[in-house]
Amino acid sequence: MAAFLDQEIKYLPGVGPKRAELLYKELKLKTFRDLIYYFPYKYIDRTKFYFISEIHAQMPYIQVKGKIRSFESVGAGRKERLTAYFYDNTGSIELIWFRGIKWQKENLKLNKEYVVFGKPSQFGKRLNLVHPEMETLEEQQLKPAGLFQGYYHTTENMKKSFLNSRTINKIQLTLIQLAKGKIGETLPARLVARLKLYSLEKSLITIHKPENTIELKNATFRLKFEELFFIQLKILALKHKREKKFKGFYFKKVGYNFNKFYTDFLPFELTGAQKKVIKEIRVDVNRGTQMNRLLQGDVGSGKTLVALMIMLLAIDNGFQSCLMAPTEILAQQHFQSLSKFLEGMNIRIELLTGSTKAKVRKGLHTALKSGEIQVLIGTHALIEDVVVFKNLGLVVIDEQHRFGVAQRAKLWKKNELIPPHVLVMTATPIPRTLAMTVYGDLDVSVIDELPPGRKPIQTMHFFENKRGQLNNFLGQQLAKGAQIYIVFPLISESEKMDLKNLEEGYRHITEVFPDSKVGMVHGKMKPAIKESAMQAFKRGETQIMVATTVIEVGVDVPNATIMVIESAERFGLSQLHQLRGRVGRGANQSYCILMSSYKIGSESKLRLETMVRTNDGFEIAEVDMKLRGPGEIDGTQQSGIGFDLKIANLGKDGEILQLARNVAIDILDDDPVLQKEENRLLLSYLMSSKETKFSWSSIS
Ligand code: ADP
Ligand code: MG
Repeated sequence: MAAFLDQEIKYLPGVGPKRAELLYKELKLKTFRDLIYYFPYKYIDRTKFYFISEIHAQMPYIQVKGKIRSFESVGAGRKERLTAYFYDNTGSIELIWFRGIKWQKENLKLNKEYVVFGKPSQFGKRLNLVHPEMETLEEQQLKPAGLFQGYYHTTENMKKSFLNSRTINKIQLTLIQLAKGKIGETLPARLVARLKLYSLEKSLITIHKPENTIELKNATFRLKFEELFFIQLKILALKHKREKKFKGFYFKKVGYNFNKFYTDFLPFELTGAQKKVIKEIRVDVNRGTQMNRLLQGDVGSGKTLVALMIMLLAIDNGFQSCLMAPTEILAQQHFQSLSKFLEGMNIRIELLTGSTKAKVRKGLHTALKSGEIQVLIGTHALIEDVVVFKNLGLVVIDEQHRFGVAQRAKLWKKNELIPPHVLVMTATPIPRTLAMTVYGDLDVSVIDELPPGRKPIQTMHFFENKRGQLNNFLGQQLAKGAQIYIVFPLISESEKMDLKNLEEGYRHITEVFPDSKVGMVHGKMKPAIKESAMQAFKRGETQIMVATTVIEVGVDVPNATIMVIESAERFGLSQLHQLRGRVGRGANQSYCILMSSYKIGSESKLRLETMVRTNDGFEIAEVDMKLRGPGEIDGTQQSGIGFDLKIANLGKDGEILQLARNVAIDILDDDPVLQKEENRLLLSYLMSSKETKFSWSSIS
């Protein structure tokens, strides 16, 4: 039975070798399976007719009934154009052809009733349909009632060869005709019955040729469910397997260092969310399996401190820890703030980055091997093979989205017998649906509370005409001793121009605020110069920092309370949110001011409105995902999970995803290695799937 879908499409009537080649080249469609899983992206209801008087050029495809009054042909040869004047009781419209004119002239008849289908356009004052589909009313009436016609994406090359959506539709109709009775089920019968799902065959047939909206909905549901379910099954099966295979260290003791820090050194009370998360992690590092946990928390929610507490736990249990950050600046910042927290405690903490001098580096290597260093902070330099620990028990990764899965895995191997626990921290809030998929193999802890005393940042959106007001406001704030960031966009295609913008902005600011010291950082500067400009701002020697997004991640200057973002319409939502997170770190009221030109598109407008409305990173992430699509969200590219979802949409199908995940969890809880007869189909799926094939077959 499987053989049917494995056949090559060149053998499908109406395709042939030439079209098959094109379909493969353009869409990578090779087999019947590939083709039948190439779903329409929209449907047109072919039962709906418009009156000609209702038509306007902004309509998508429309269908009208009427007759041809007369033909007119202008030009000759390749320039020839044929116009048919088409009318109904309410008005008339022109039908236009540039090709196939001879055929149209010979076959179309005056005063015969036609059904015409096409996309209206406007030419001067006249409405027309270019290259419409034509059928006589009799032909139309022979079709089944309530037919929805599927529309398929095609490419320019395909259109040039007349392989358009309509042709694909025809090919699909041929295929589903042949497919009847030949497509086997992929989900366990009990599951199909319990969820009242359409069979796979019925769904695949219906998705190309639904007869009504209810059918379409059922078929879509089944196919989305299946797509998401198999992803979840795969992720969760691997997770089960990993937990079984990899033992984990026990951090049993809550000892001297943890307690001493908590009672004597911790400068403030932990927030409830921090306590909750520390508890979750403590359970996790004491189960005998490797922890793989994602720690999510908005900027400034105090993730670093949580990481530090767990590192102390590691030390109390005789283990070393490392913390890996994506950039040199961040690694240094972590090193400084953690060193400060640990001042007075007898703990050796060191920094290792790409710019660590060879001699120092050698010393670090030795001290790591001997176990003298208990906490190592660094960048990618930590991953290098020469970095050998005595007994690495905990790996903390900050800002996960910059590291790929492969790099995570490399850190695991730093302890040969048992892999260290892994805690991944991210300030980029990830929508729940995405977390379930991209990080579906990780457990998730969320810090959903900011330390007390923080005043929510006030965000405003100004158009250019309020520049004067903005400057007044900045002047007042400077007088009060506040520090200000002013961020300009930097977009790679026009780097030169952006740099000019930045430099002009810098000049403008120095002119408006002659009494203030203004610094500048951008990505084209030498790291050392950038660093010293940042340090000067941090020490309060400069009051205004004009910058590009290089300051986006993690920089901590509590006295900076104002973030001005220029041309804010050019930034993505998560980027705006990250930038805003640079302020609001101290006790004073902070402000974020979004400057934009008047001309902004509707999506930009929604982004700016969202920023003004909420400070909640998760809410912002949801909007962001709906706007950009999940594939664009940071982290998904490196996740290792293909995002070529054919039908499900992580932005919209959260409920189906949750259901799919719950079902997968239930099934694996009941039958962890899928040995039961009723799960035979699922087992064979996992055994045949690229990602799970090897590792799965080794346990069952
Ligand atoms: P994140 O890494 O989540 O963005 P940080 O760990 O850098 O946040 O914390 C932001 C700031 O808040 C730091 O200056 C930190 O010392 C401080 N902080 C952390 N936890 C608390 C708390 N419970 N109460 C008060 N301040 C806190
Ligand atoms: Mg941080």
